[in-house]
Amino acid sequence: MTPETDIRQALKAVGKIIETAEVAAGRAAGSVTLIAISKNHSSEAARRALEAGQRVFGENRVQEAVEKWPPLKAEFPDAELHLVGSLQRNKVQRALELFDAIHTIDRSKLARAVAGEMDKSGRRLECFLQINTGEEPQKGGVLPMDADAFITECRDDLGLPVVGLMGIPPRDEEASLHFALLREIAKRNGLARLSMGMSADFEEAIHFGATHVRVGTAIFGERPPIE
Ligand SMILES: *Cc1c(COP(=O)(O)O)cnc(C)c1O
Repeated sequence: MTPETDIRQALKAVGKIIETAEVAAGRAAGSVTLIAISKNHSSEAARRALEAGQRVFGENRVQEAVEKWPPLKAEFPDAELHLVGSLQRNKVQRALELFDAIHTIDRSKLARAVAGEMDKSGRRLECFLQINTGEEPQKGGVLPMDADAFITECRDDLGLPVVGLMGIPPRDEEASLHFALLREIAKRNGLARLSMGMSADFEEAIHFGATHVRVGTAIFGERPPIE
């Protein structure tokens, strides 16, 4: 099989699992957005997915996305790019120029920088706030006990276009507990969208209400190491 058919078939297979999971969870068909995570993969790989009809993509590093995506976006103007990796304040301006959504607003200083840059540029991207449900020191995100205050700050004080929450469960724990916690925090704050679930657990995430699943390996294969 050529890599081209690989990616096309993988997208189809992932799409099927999503459809089945939507039905099983009593969710509307097509209510879950598949974000194809193309980080560390070539622009040719991303292009193959675009040619197969995939339109929503995710990258985790601003610099890599800046190098890879402008020509692809020129060629496929309806492609949508989501930032799913941590964002540094000195990259906010570039991120706002290139991306269509940010999943990793995870601290006040960053939230303020993004709000300021949005006011300046007039460009408003959908924002997901990252919650560190596993309270892991190496991970971004606010702690669950600080989530309500952070949501209020971002949405009401700063006026960010907050659409939902994002989380990455700890590797060695039952993901469902973390999905359920994220859903609970979103629900009590009136947020409709949940960005959760990766290659290993997106089916389960949909069961727990994911509206956006972030799938890399199951579409593009194992990632080549970063040089
Ligand atoms: C890499 C990455 C993914 C995709 O992970 P896979 O296991 O390859 O599907 C999802 N979300 C984030 C934040 C990532 O960095």
